[in-house]
Amino acid sequence: MSVRPLQHAVLAWYDAHGRDLPWRRTRDPYAILVSEFMAQQTQIVRVLERYERWLQRWPTAAALAAATPAEVLAQWVGLGYNRRALRLRDTCVIVARDGWPRDGRGLRALPGVGPYTAAAVASFAFGERVAAVDTNVRRVAARLDVAPDALLPAARHDTWNQAAMELGARICTARAPRCGDCPAAPWCPSRGRIAGPARAPRAPRQRFEDSDRWARGRVVAALASGEELPAQIAPDRLARVLAGLERDGLVERGPSGVRLPGETH
Ligand code: SF4
Repeated sequence: MSVRPLQHAVLAWYDAHGRDLPWRRTRDPYAILVSEFMAQQTQIVRVLERYERWLQRWPTAAALAAATPAEVLAQWVGLGYNRRALRLRDTCVIVARDGWPRDGRGLRALPGVGPYTAAAVASFAFGERVAAVDTNVRRVAARLDVAPDALLPAARHDTWNQAAMELGARICTARAPRCGDCPAAPWCPSRGRIAGPARAPRAPRQRFEDSDRWARGRVVAALASGEELPAQIAPDRLARVLAGLERDGLVERGPSGVRLPGETH
């Protein structure tokens, strides 16, 4: 099939219906990188709350590189998966020293930057014609039965990357694709055929408060705000969580006990 009419239809849909997200209005590689790191495992609405504040505090890669890991972790509290914050800072230290790599290959060598994030920055900041393939885009392309790279148009390829992600996030979703609203429907062999994966019987779910991820987040949040370590975490569990955080470089032992890395007390 010729993909050009499909590309036109999806781009026209995106022009009319795409969300106006702040990182879509910039070509600043640092701002785009911040948004990509924040969005890796965090919902967009929570990222929106934090993104502008982050850029106000650290408007450039050099500014973030000059911050201490403790300051960066304290600002990240609530976004989850705190190691992302340290990898983002590590990347900015390299960029402040060496400048930005100008293509996807160079970007991929930076800490915490995987193939998708590298492609996204190369596309949105530097205009490289490269497909940014996240899970949404991969799913859309599979349903269209076309390789993601083959969908990338010659012109407006950066906008295409945004459009394909938006289509996967809002229309061609994993469980309930809205084929009736989909601009790609006339060319889609899967149209109306995706019933969504059968739901397995639900195993009893662990409460989030019982997970180590919750406990890790609570410990980092307490240290960031200068509070005592959370008393509701049992001592043996707290010891295990602290050991894990220390291993990951998220806390260290100082003269007066556990602290965020780089703190002076
Ligand atoms: S027609 Fe349906 S399955 Fe095909 S791309 Fe659109 S939403 Fe996805």
